[in-house]
Amino acid sequence: MTGASVVTTSTTMPGPQIAGEFFAVPLEPYRYLLYAPEMGVAFVGTARLVNRIVDMCSSVSKSRSCLDPELSALLQSLGIRDADDEEAEARIALELRLRSGNVVMTDQTALEALDSTFSSTVAGRRARLRYVGMEGCADAWHVLEYSLAHTRARLGEDARGLEVIGVVTGVLGPEETARMSACVDAVEVCADVLPGVESRPNLPALQRFPVDWLEMLRLLNAAGCPTSLRIPVTLAHLHDLTESLHYLCEIGGFEEIVLEPSMRWGCWNGTPESETLAMLEAFRAAQRALAPLHCSIRMAGTQPGSRESFCGAPVEQIAVLPNGSTSQCCGSFEHYCDGCFARGDCAGPCQTAEPRDVAFQGSQRCHLIRELLKDRIVAGIARSGVSWRRSRMAAVSHA
Ligand code: SF4
Repeated sequence: MTGASVVTTSTTMPGPQIAGEFFAVPLEPYRYLLYAPEMGVAFVGTARLVNRIVDMCSSVSKSRSCLDPELSALLQSLGIRDADDEEAEARIALELRLRSGNVVMTDQTALEALDSTFSSTVAGRRARLRYVGMEGCADAWHVLEYSLAHTRARLGEDARGLEVIGVVTGVLGPEETARMSACVDAVEVCADVLPGVESRPNLPALQRFPVDWLEMLRLLNAAGCPTSLRIPVTLAHLHDLTESLHYLCEIGGFEEIVLEPSMRWGCWNGTPESETLAMLEAFRAAQRALAPLHCSIRMAGTQPGSRESFCGAPVEQIAVLPNGSTSQCCGSFEHYCDGCFARGDCAGPCQTAEPRDVAFQGSQRCHLIRELLKDRIVAGIARSGVSWRRSRMAAVSHA
């Protein structure tokens, strides 16, 4: 073996990045999650295996003849290849915000955005289209149905590569729910509805949800429309988070609930704060409790390969506003993101956050992202028994 070993126990490792885009994330003493995010591959190994990989990688940079043949064959069989072998995967995502106040997008604006974003090359790519802002607005419904029918007809067979999501931020009545289910591939319900302990504390959590909103969930479920739920979570919600999510999942039949933790995030200095740990534990408890219902609980920014921002927007997404102007969220990493194993999955810090000085090493939220991402990948390894491979197409919405 050549080169010096870098790992002897889980606590002596200087950092999880062991070579290029290859990370060894400590799990427990002498066990590591070996994660190659660019290739979408992960497996669990010992400290000794980590050291052999480090040695081999440093040997490869000097001479290919120094390859450890046994280890090289193992990595190949697990899907680890030279980065050069990996084809760059193109993804496209567009969000049409149909309404802002009294301004409604015109058919022409929608069609121009759709025509310029989704060409006939959509097939086989990860292409996602989101419509936002239909509630109670006949004009917005017209734009959705007209522009979508037009785009699908234009794309023909290639339209199968386009995933269309209707984003519901309010309450749809029975007729609107049926229209939505009939034209989109999936619905995403976004709502700030979790009951906090301080609100009407004498009522059980289950009776504190808006009745008309619950009815919408029932209707969407009955229509068989794949529906995900995205809700903000504060510290006040943690007390009965599992109970609340369990109830919502039974009503809505959700395959996925995305949680957006909302709190004042302290700086990351290598130690999680008690509030961060409370959030993490509540998330994990909810994940365990909802697994038997086949519902995945996920925090925004922890979907492997999606490069999803904290607000849920994928990094490549362009939003078109009703007046035709465009906006893009996030998409740039800070210096402290270098060497973070979540860099291929999280879209980087929120650009609306206040500027930080160069000593800033990320926020407590980064810890939450890294821990929950690690959980997700380890669960994938446990399911296969050997390794985890990211599904290319699945990373658009439901990894
Ligand atoms: S924002 Fe935090 S979690 Fe995301 S890549 Fe940067 S350091 Fe990692």
